[in-house]
Amino acid sequence: MKITSVREISVPLHANIANSVVNFSAHTVSLVAVVSDVVRDGKPVTGVAFDSIGRFAQTGILKDRFIPRLHETDPDELISENGRHFDASKVLEAILRNEKPGGHGDRAHAAAALELAIWDLNAKLEQVPAWRCIADHFGVDPRMEMPVYAAGGYYYPTDSLNRLADEMRHYIDLGYTRFKMKIGGASLQEDMKRIEAALSVVGEGAYLAVDANGRFDRETALQYGRAMKNFGLRWYEEPGDPLDYDIMASLAEDYPHALATGENLFSTQDVRNLIRYGAMRRDQDYFQMDPGLSYGLTDFARMVDLMETSGYSRRQLQPHGGHMIALHVVMGLNVGGSEAYPGVFAPVGGYTPGCRVGDGTVSPTDAVGFGLEEKPDLKPHIDELIQ
Ligand code: MG
Repeated sequence: MKITSVREISVPLHANIANSVVNFSAHTVSLVAVVSDVVRDGKPVTGVAFDSIGRFAQTGILKDRFIPRLHETDPDELISENGRHFDASKVLEAILRNEKPGGHGDRAHAAAALELAIWDLNAKLEQVPAWRCIADHFGVDPRMEMPVYAAGGYYYPTDSLNRLADEMRHYIDLGYTRFKMKIGGASLQEDMKRIEAALSVVGEGAYLAVDANGRFDRETALQYGRAMKNFGLRWYEEPGDPLDYDIMASLAEDYPHALATGENLFSTQDVRNLIRYGAMRRDQDYFQMDPGLSYGLTDFARMVDLMETSGYSRRQLQPHGGHMIALHVVMGLNVGGSEAYPGVFAPVGGYTPGCRVGDGTVSPTDAVGFGLEEKPDLKPHIDELIQ
């Protein structure tokens, strides 16, 4: 058994929206296919994945470094001990050969796209959904559905408060029971009015999280924390720069409710530093690392281990995502849940039409792998990739 080819295309993201820091209209995603020499129904069994949302395609790194290194590796070195799968950790080791430690940036996303395609390939070889393959591999009792919240709450140029309330009402109509909205793109006073407008629709603060997307300095982060304290929000996400652990530690002393961060930490070492210096509170705060941005599932599982050996629950992990890969990872590793971005970030964002969304949870069909081929807007890109 061996890998015969690895392909990548850059797919534009459909998202003419902005948070307090980033406009997504020019964003792209790397869609990767790993083709094996195993043939079923006249076609080679092929793993497909992408590198999550919000960080651009990684065509150069994949085509110049990672794909050539994979082809240079002895195929026998990439097979699991039982001989039935490809070993994702060995694939990761092969593609990272001669890479220096540290500096985990775009490289971590490129590696993730390829590593996750190996999990899709393995699940297809076993003819099971990816969550089952992941749970079996890591010896985890999987969860059968994923708690999901609707992430949005964007800024609108006109009639901002009414449109924000309408947006939240729309999510309720779609079956969501928990929500997240942006802050940090307006004055503190305006943002407080926006939070009140959202709460007037969703009810209690326990149903609503806010996300500053890393915008604030320490003083602003603390001011927002004090202003929001009485709302009792579900969590306060990425208040400051993702690598400024001291801001998190300051807030942990000052802000009584849950904090969340981690979607922009791309390595186990970064998470270790968050735990060492960020004062994340056990049984309260949330971690949000995304396997699609941080070397794939191999490293993500190490992050889960690190959390547990440091006294946190894996249910405190709510990976950034909003797509099919995150759904299967959350179920397979039995972590806390993830998000949905209803109506934006197509074609990779969102769940397939057969997925059941309701009562604040989502569950997949029994499609093999991540089920990406069942996504009508993504299928033409997959066909282009593997034709
Ligand atoms: Mg966020």
